[in-house]
Amino acid sequence: MALQRLYIRKGDRVAVLSGNERGAVGKVLSVDRNKYRAVVEGVALRKKHVRRTQQNPKGGVIEKEAALHVSNLMVICPKCNKPSRLARRVVDGRSLRVCKKCDETLA
Ligand SMILES: [Zn+2]
Repeated sequence: MALQRLYIRKGDRVAVLSGNERGAVGKVLSVDRNKYRAVVEGVALRKKHVRRTQQNPKGGVIEKEAALHVSNLMVICPKCNKPSRLARRVVDGRSLRVCKKCDETLA
């Protein structure tokens, strides 16, 4: 099966549409193309127990974002400021993402 191209990229603002974190909004910190999951800043925090390391000599419990499935996320268009579906359009040989609501081109 060919890998599906994702519409979400690192640095996007996204809204969470379903699941426990529904309604949350945040910036995408990383995207895992193979698992179709993305980590969103400040969303889906999970407590994680960490071992003592040199960086963190005390060890203990830290809060870290869990990865969310991209199907639960929608990119927020910077122009119309709404969660929006995106289309792909080829302009001058480059594939760009376009907001389906306001036609704004996203990087
Ligand atoms: Zn838009």
